[in-house]
Amino acid sequence: MAQNSSSCQHNPADTQKIDAPHIFGKNLSLVFESKQDVIAVNSVNFSIQKGKITAIIGESGSGKSTLLKLIYGLLEPSAGEVRYQGWRVPTRKDKLIPGHEAMKLVSQGFDDLNLYAKVWDNVASQLPNTNIARKESKTIEILQKLKIAHLAQQRVADLSGGEKQRVAIARALINEPETLLMDEPFNQVDAAFRDALQQDIKQIVQETGLTILLVSHDPTEVLAMSDELIVMKNAKIIEQGNPEKLYYKPNNSYTAQLLAKSNILSSSQASLLGIRSVQHIGIHQEDISFTLSQTGDFLITDIRFRGFYKEIVLSKPQLTLHTLLYPVTNVHIGQRATVHIIRHVNFQDS
Ligand code: ADP
Ligand code: MG
Repeated sequence: MAQNSSSCQHNPADTQKIDAPHIFGKNLSLVFESKQDVIAVNSVNFSIQKGKITAIIGESGSGKSTLLKLIYGLLEPSAGEVRYQGWRVPTRKDKLIPGHEAMKLVSQGFDDLNLYAKVWDNVASQLPNTNIARKESKTIEILQKLKIAHLAQQRVADLSGGEKQRVAIARALINEPETLLMDEPFNQVDAAFRDALQQDIKQIVQETGLTILLVSHDPTEVLAMSDELIVMKNAKIIEQGNPEKLYYKPNNSYTAQLLAKSNILSSSQASLLGIRSVQHIGIHQEDISFTLSQTGDFLITDIRFRGFYKEIVLSKPQLTLHTLLYPVTNVHIGQRATVHIIRHVNFQDS
């Protein structure tokens, strides 16, 4: 897919280009007029690299969708600014049809699709009728790329969630945007089909140099897909970085819980395990091993079936730990165990 070269869609109000990363946010805030007691996005700073997949993760209500809409230009910042290739992103104030022309937004819940039209028409309708041959060939090309060419004559309403999402992405990509924004793109895709769709999207990024920014609340999704991760909590960006770094060495307990379901221990709880720390610490579930022992100081208080592994809850006075048992062996609630901590994480938040 060739990239759109006319990407600097600056408008008359915007005469100054600055030297900045591909997408760049500075002190960006938004308070909705209808909900002034809550700051939806609170003074965030970020930079997004070209040709990479960046994921925004955070719990529900943390401001992810609002941030995505601010980046696209659908919402007017209350303060601060978003820049695309150095140009301030135009908003409703600056142009009639909101949305940056070098970007495309795939919104949540297939809002943009005409469910009663055929797949072909949903996608082809994005191109003008000025060149019918090109319209046909481009439509075939993008349907093939998204592996839905065989569905061309079906109604969108009759497709599965995963197929609908492929149509939505094909529709967004047919005009060769430089940047694709996706809000919770795998929410309505069955788990069994998610992986294939994620890998296909990654391949498109590799082949075309497309930049993707996606929002998700699911750690398995963002860890598998993203080159860069932005963590949002209460309208703020609290961490940004490489997914592996954020998984193994998060600065914040929130990140550790979100990405790794880490056990968060106060310093006095940590001392019960012989770990000295003035701060609270995190212990990822996979970093705890245990052996059954009559003289162990922990008791197995719960066993949760998770398919190929079991989650084991180990307790002693003042302390409960969740750990994984893999491969699965026979353990029972009420057995005593000794615990061995392989690794812990020191946080920088308080
Ligand atoms: P997330 O996508 O992380 O779940 P949102 O960005 O949707 O979070 O919401 C952030 C905050 O802004 C929430 O408190 C939400 O209620 C509020 N909010 C979102 N959209 C609107 C809107 N259109 N009008 C008023 N408040 C909104
Ligand atoms: Mg949302």
